[in-house]
Amino acid sequence: MSAQLFRNSGELREMLARVRRMGASVGLAPTMGALHEGHGRLIDAARRETDCVVVSVFVNPIQFDRPEDLERYPRNLDADVRFSGDRGADIVFAPTPDEMYPEPQRAFVDVERVSEGLCGSFRPGHFRGVATVVLKLLNIVQPDRAYFGEKDAQQLAVVQRMVRDLNLSVEIVPVATARESDGLALSSRNKHLGIEERKVAPILFQALLVAQKLIASGTANPAEVQGAALAVLEQQPLARVEYLEIVDPGDMQPVERIAGPVRVAAAVWLGSTRLIDNMLCEPGPPETAGLIQ
Ligand code: AMP
Repeated sequence: MSAQLFRNSGELREMLARVRRMGASVGLAPTMGALHEGHGRLIDAARRETDCVVVSVFVNPIQFDRPEDLERYPRNLDADVRFSGDRGADIVFAPTPDEMYPEPQRAFVDVERVSEGLCGSFRPGHFRGVATVVLKLLNIVQPDRAYFGEKDAQQLAVVQRMVRDLNLSVEIVPVATARESDGLALSSRNKHLGIEERKVAPILFQALLVAQKLIASGTANPAEVQGAALAVLEQQPLARVEYLEIVDPGDMQPVERIAGPVRVAAAVWLGSTRLIDNMLCEPGPPETAGLIQ
């Protein structure tokens, strides 16, 4: 199957208006291209749940805090259109930067608190750029449902909060993280890893597993969990930890005690490549050892 490519938002709007008039529902998977199995899972979910699946491919300049990162971001539209079609998407919307930003952008979306901390502390303006482009894409496509990966958990939380606070009529659907067999979360940035870096990259997943196990066994002190996960990462001299935090999955702020579901979220540099990953962790039943039942 092949997907139809649109580069112009007016033409896309016209097409989707026709689709909606026929009573069909629309699903959107927003991406920055260089599509891989992780994106494929978003398309699969959209395919299952909606009639017309749109994949957007746009490397959004206003969310990059480092110009060299924007410049070296992988781009291959032909392959992305093929991938999307093979996976069952109907439409690829790949606007140019001029199409999305014909004039200097003056209106932005700031999702307070949720955007602060974690990646927000290290990438100034990043989530403002993300929330703004996601709102623009939602307004252009007007999907019934939009699909976001849990891999980028803070992004997901920012978008969910934007949708609630601004009364948008779209359902945000989280999609589980797709991983390599050794646990490394799939990412377009993995291509930049050198051979040695690629070999050690699963250390991030292993650190998250250690945290998950401690939390499941009833450890309620986040500092203890953080210390154990950091100890795993510190064994690897190639890895430089940017952050590793235990946060509330809603507002993404550090918790003082682990009493319910939390996200353990981390960013690690391997050479010049920044990897992020996270895991939703649930405390197990409270320790009953020694208690008279
Ligand atoms: P990106 O193209 O990296 O901006 O990602 C576009 C969407 O795909 C975002 O919602 C990501 O969270 C999601 N995504 C990227 N990698 C993965 C993955 N390994 N598993 C699940 N979703 C992913």
